Amino acid sequence: MKKHNFNAGPSVLPREVIEKTAQAVLDFNGSGLSILEISHRSKDFQAVMDEAIALFKELLEIPSGYSVVFLGGGASLQFCMVPFNLLEKKAAYLLTGTWASKAYKEAKGFGEVVEVASSKDANFSYIPKNYVIPTDVDYFHITTNNTIFGTEILTDIDSPVPLVADMSSDIFSRPVDVSKYGVIYGGAQKNLGPAGLAFAIVKEELLGKVSRHIPTMLDYRIHIENGSMFNTPPVLPIYSALETLRWLKANGGLVAMEKKNIAKAELLYNEIDRNKLFVGTAAKEDRSRMNICFVMKPEYQELEAEFLKFASDRGMVGIKGHRSVGGYRASIYNALPIESVQALIDCMQEFEKLH
Ligand SMILES: *Cc1c(COP(=O)(O)O)cnc(C)c1O
Repeated sequence: MKKHNFNAGPSVLPREVIEKTAQAVLDFNGSGLSILEISHRSKDFQAVMDEAIALFKELLEIPSGYSVVFLGGGASLQFCMVPFNLLEKKAAYLLTGTWASKAYKEAKGFGEVVEVASSKDANFSYIPKNYVIPTDVDYFHITTNNTIFGTEILTDIDSPVPLVADMSSDIFSRPVDVSKYGVIYGGAQKNLGPAGLAFAIVKEELLGKVSRHIPTMLDYRIHIENGSMFNTPPVLPIYSALETLRWLKANGGLVAMEKKNIAKAELLYNEIDRNKLFVGTAAKEDRSRMNICFVMKPEYQELEAEFLKFASDRGMVGIKGHRSVGGYRASIYNALPIESVQALIDCMQEFEKLH
């Protein structure tokens, strides 16, 4: 049976990225060697790194003055790397979910940290509005897509202080005005590649301003100076990321990707709103295009487990909601085809007819 992969992360990747990665593991560039058994400083791997960084900059139209680095440790290590490098006295955080809260908690070890606004009062089902960004802080941190709660900040907000964004789960899903940000970071395993890889886009002029000692491996400057090769980088995830970046370019780049993502999300939200059994959990104006959260309406609550089984019997994978929201979550990242969204909708409609 065909599987439709709605996993939240690690998650669906383009089939050709998986196949090309498999090929590089068996025989990289016809060298007779696996990419796993060659030096990261070899000419062949240096070409992978160079092309990946170049495509990263090209697709996001990253202006000069910014560097892109590949790092280990996932997005979670960035929760401390950001304040290590940028927080001298005070930072501000927007609390829009579990990941944002973790980032906020981590920063507290480095200085004064203020909560600008939070949607915790309604289980993070909306994005706070009309908050004021303090002007006396070193940076303002946001999480653009709240993977667990299915809300998203879809505009590049104007900030009077350097804007730092965790874009783990919506990077490359739409064009971004990078010039409005100081740092954009994320883990790779949602829209870019395998787990174990993180990226950071860093405005260089923000670095070197804190007075603390930064451990070498946590210092953005070291990774920038060494072209993401201060130590042995996660070579295979970087190779897969390169293949994803090539796929993005070949498929029309981020303008085309955004168009497809809007179409997929609208299709599924329309069905959630139409279907008598289901209701969306996120505020309509803040709905994520990447993670679509919905539950059974209270009067059909007893059908919750039954629908999960019904859908998984028909090839739907990974639609069980996160425990902090319940119900269902369909993650419809870049690589998920619209046919899979339609297959889920077919399940929802069939199930509705049965009840
Ligand atoms: C998945 C996720 C993380 C955590 O990523 P790790 O690579 O596991 O550390 C952080 N932030 C957001 C928004 C995420 O979706």
